[in-house]
Amino acid sequence: MWHREYHDSRIILEQQGDLKYLVISARVQRNAVRATILVMGFLTTMAVGMTVTAGWLQTRKIMLEHSHRQIYFALQSAGINPDLQSGEYSQDDMLEMARSIRERDMQIRQYVGDWTETLAARNNDLRSLMSSSGLNGKVISLIQSSQPVGGVIETFNDNPLLGGAFAKETAANRELRSVLEALPDRMPLPDYTITSDFGIRPHPVTNKPSLHAGIDLKPQNGDDRVLAVKAGKVLVAGYHGNLGNAVLIRHDRGVETIYGHLDKIFVKQGDTVQQGTPLGLVGNTGQSTGKHLHFEVLVGSYQVDPKKVIQTAQYVRQTQK
Ligand SMILES: [Zn+2]
Repeated sequence: MWHREYHDSRIILEQQGDLKYLVISARVQRNAVRATILVMGFLTTMAVGMTVTAGWLQTRKIMLEHSHRQIYFALQSAGINPDLQSGEYSQDDMLEMARSIRERDMQIRQYVGDWTETLAARNNDLRSLMSSSGLNGKVISLIQSSQPVGGVIETFNDNPLLGGAFAKETAANRELRSVLEALPDRMPLPDYTITSDFGIRPHPVTNKPSLHAGIDLKPQNGDDRVLAVKAGKVLVAGYHGNLGNAVLIRHDRGVETIYGHLDKIFVKQGDTVQQGTPLGLVGNTGQSTGKHLHFEVLVGSYQVDPKKVIQTAQYVRQTQK
């Protein structure tokens, strides 16, 4: 087409018997054909270009949607309910869509940045709360090692927004919360006063300094029921030397609770109990100088202060839900 040879053409026009000759030169013919080819080529390129651009935008949209979904789940795993727009777009206008995705992407980046700072501050609070509750590194690692937490953040490694500080802080927050969630957040009596704290004290019977490995509680308002502080399985239910009639429950993640000096026991070894299941009645059996409940919390067989641990777990559950 481009290199075709043209010859001058003559068009004969007849007007009222007169004949006129219109000459179209070879040069004009060649230029007209070449101009047409150029215009057609340009239009075709435009059409292909727009299709490719639309495809690229669609791919980019899917990638960003994926990225934003990952961020949503990462935030959720850190106990945050992200208040982001849903990923549905009603309009088909590709350019408009691209712009709204870019805007949302920027919003999310800002959001992630803000939350990274908030989470870091929360994590520091949790760490100081836990250490002041006597939950030292050893106890915390015992809880963590007893049941590894699934890798939610780890699967987001391909997401650049979830890397670095945000991933570190959400993972740390998840760990800290899972430790605290493994601990009981309520006392074993419906109404009580604490008559003896955790720690070294003169033994009530022998009078020698000894570790009181739990706390002593007296029931109030006539309700003597002893309730399981957390769901678990009864490992021991019966008479047990100093503790008298005692129940030991194993909970998740290496946490155990002991209820001693009971009058009656309502459960037997192997029973599964829920939080609040009555285990027995407060009594004065074993090495005891009066009716009371001796209550212990153990983590991987280390005794921790039940009062401090329960207060911490309660505080965290109230403030970070
Ligand atoms: Zn005691």
